[in-house]
Amino acid sequence: MAGILDGKAFSKKILENIKEKCEKEGLKPGLAVILVGDDPASSVYVRMKEKRCKELGFVSKGYKLPADTKEEELASLIEKLNNDDEIDGILLQLPLPSHLNSKKMLELISPEKDVDGFHPVNAGKLFTGQDAFIPCTPRGIIELLKEYKIEMEGKNAVVIGRSNIVGKPMAILLLNENATVTICHSRTKDLKEVASQADILIASIGRPYFVSGDFVKEGAVVVDVGVNRVDSIEQGEKLFGKGSEKLKKIKEKGYVLVGDVNYEEAFPKASFITPVPGGVGPLTIAMLMKNTLESHLRRKNR
Ligand code: NAP
Repeated sequence: MAGILDGKAFSKKILENIKEKCEKEGLKPGLAVILVGDDPASSVYVRMKEKRCKELGFVSKGYKLPADTKEEELASLIEKLNNDDEIDGILLQLPLPSHLNSKKMLELISPEKDVDGFHPVNAGKLFTGQDAFIPCTPRGIIELLKEYKIEMEGKNAVVIGRSNIVGKPMAILLLNENATVTICHSRTKDLKEVASQADILIASIGRPYFVSGDFVKEGAVVVDVGVNRVDSIEQGEKLFGKGSEKLKKIKEKGYVLVGDVNYEEAFPKASFITPVPGGVGPLTIAMLMKNTLESHLRRKNR
């Protein structure tokens, strides 16, 4: 039976430490968040980020641009924020509307203010072992594993997913901790067999309950990055079974949020596991705040 890796409690502790440091030292880090269009999920994320900034006493500048914003308009806002001394971090909420080139827009953000760690300069620095902004989700996972004193050195770590935001940086960070790392993706052969060799299994796929119990080695540490909305009763019945609590939730609320890991099957086999919600999710925002504070300290030479 697994111990719970409680990302919610740990992120609360991180945020309290940040607040205390800012109050004690009179620091006022600044974060600008740009949202283009009105994607409902993105709007929720942006509101949560702005709320955290306010709670910590950060300067928070929010920019809500219409969905038909032209590339030049977005570029000139980013340029303005690059030169705004009050701002230490610039976050461009993804996904952007399809007429905007995300890669090109992200590259306009000054690497010194790229608190998401998505700029190629920061990705390259991470890859070559230099000081860099580390993408928030994988950074949060490493800090969570350290908080629970999970040994990484010499362990077999399997990362399912190779996105630039989670999978690839996650693999590099685990490698930096001297784990032996395997990265899996949609073309991996015998995925179950590879995953079941893992002492540390990270799932960042975006498919509800994809990782069943037989992916999990007895005693493995399981980290579930996925956040999937299941809103069909038919799919709910298939995934969770008739009479399950989750199916009840779909019927009551219209949907349920679940991870990539079949929690009920993985829980009895794992030594530690992250729940969804309350595992990796809250840490991502906590790390964004931490990256913004670190940027502020660096920019003020403190
Ligand atoms: P992504 O860019 O869509 O990448 C998904 C990865 O999963 C890809 O590398 C893909 O392989 C792989 N994959 C898809 N189907 C597969 C299969 N059948 N077998 C093996 N691998 C498969 O997604 P992401 O940005 O990494 O996000 C993944 C999940 O994490 C999503 O649910 C997202 O919402 C969640 N997420 C959560 C947080 C958080 O704060 N909790 C943060 C970021 C993301 P290919 O490369 O071969 O296509």
